[in-house]
Amino acid sequence: MINFTNSYNQLPNEFYSNETPSAAVKPHLIAFNDKLANELGLDCSSIDNEKLAFVFSGKELLEKGSYISMAYAGHQFGHFVPSLGDGRAILMGEVTDREGLLYDIHLKGAGRTHFSRRGDGRSSLGPVLREYIVSEAMYHLGVPTTRALAAVLTGDDVFREDIFPGGVFTRVARGHIRVGTFEYFFSREEHHNVKTLSDYAIARFDKDLIDHEDKYNQFFDRIVTRKLSLVAKWMGLGFIHGVMNTDNTSISGETIDYGPCAFMDKFSFDKVFSSIDRHGRYRYANQGNIALWNLSVLANTLFPLLKRDEENDEEVVQRLQQKFKEYSAYYEAQWLKVMGNKIGIFDPHPSDSELINDFLLTMENHGLDFTNTFRSLHNFDFVDEEISSRWHQRLKEQGKGFDEVRELMDSVNPFIIPRNHQIEKAINDAIDGNFEHFHFLRNAFGNPYKEESDLLSLTVEPLAGEVVTKTFCGT
Ligand code: AMP
Ligand code: MG
Repeated sequence: MINFTNSYNQLPNEFYSNETPSAAVKPHLIAFNDKLANELGLDCSSIDNEKLAFVFSGKELLEKGSYISMAYAGHQFGHFVPSLGDGRAILMGEVTDREGLLYDIHLKGAGRTHFSRRGDGRSSLGPVLREYIVSEAMYHLGVPTTRALAAVLTGDDVFREDIFPGGVFTRVARGHIRVGTFEYFFSREEHHNVKTLSDYAIARFDKDLIDHEDKYNQFFDRIVTRKLSLVAKWMGLGFIHGVMNTDNTSISGETIDYGPCAFMDKFSFDKVFSSIDRHGRYRYANQGNIALWNLSVLANTLFPLLKRDEENDEEVVQRLQQKFKEYSAYYEAQWLKVMGNKIGIFDPHPSDSELINDFLLTMENHGLDFTNTFRSLHNFDFVDEEISSRWHQRLKEQGKGFDEVRELMDSVNPFIIPRNHQIEKAINDAIDGNFEHFHFLRNAFGNPYKEESDLLSLTVEPLAGEVVTKTFCGT
């Protein structure tokens, strides 16, 4: 059924713990992503739903699966926690897809692990459905992300602020190595393991660097560019991750951990959804800064590897400080490209950032919907006349036709995004046993840039009583 090619369980014992999933009593399949299964080369087409539910809840173990939990640490809201690890996730195993790339298949909510501490290792249905919808939408929006392979009901209840049905979510990722994985070994002064982890990650994500004479610096550069270009993409979609802790910062450059995340309806620079982000550390406009902060934590763990033969410590520090100035400029350039394209500028210049910010400020002042306002720019109309005329002037300078500009804008300003109130409805209905809205949403985002009349309901902003103001980690 699954031809595993496991590698993480070949690493030293300190990297992981062997596990047996325990959560599912009477598994029932909610959804299975056949298309993704096919891309991954999984042989599931002839398998019935009952068997899929057993396998993707962990009730039935596959012979060649690895079933391990991974060790990691992390900075949560700026505070270091030396031991986190997969407390409610189990790596079922790794597979090589049709293109030859390695992917992790991860069961989330399959029961207690070595790292569960006081947690129950489970997941309630809500976070399972939320991650399914949002991660698949992200993928189709063109943003690197973990993906959704399956959602299963466990058949028993989970106790949170209320009693909810339990669920298991199967997540697929290019990898689950986080900044926090490096911190785990660094904080234990196991520098040999930081090196082992780096070499493993290079072989997995940046194979072409294996024989490079300055491979660790090159590797770090790759991680930085992947992460910063990812965050710029989030900014272009009004996406707020909500919990950008270093343990939720993947070095593969994928969006990972869809806990309290949300897409904005009305635009605001300082928008925060997460109930636990009391000081707005992870607010919309701060995501670039936080990504850089997380990357500086990673640089610290890699310090001995980044040091070149001819350098002393002081010189490495100076070089890295200079590098971080360049990284900050790189992020600005990525942001400019993403946002400039959204207003129809093909090749934005730094001087365009003023115009972009004026658009955003006006949207905030008028309480405008982020997605719909950008999408409507293909009519070449904006509420503020002064900004509009500067904008038209700038578009004219490009010497491109209306159609070309419209095409660019429509390729980056989505028609639909998964709005919070729609996700909430899907979850609430599902808790009552009705999965219709969930299935509607999971099928709606095949091409979110294309206008479809039967999806018009998803472009509508929430009514006053439907607005979701707070989101939760779903732990
Ligand atoms: P997260 O908020 O999902 O990034 O999780 C932070 C840490 O808490 C990770 O180490 C998780 O494995 C752990 N965790 C979250 N929820 C649970 C749970 N229900 N049981 C055990 N560990 C959990
Ligand atoms: Mg996490």
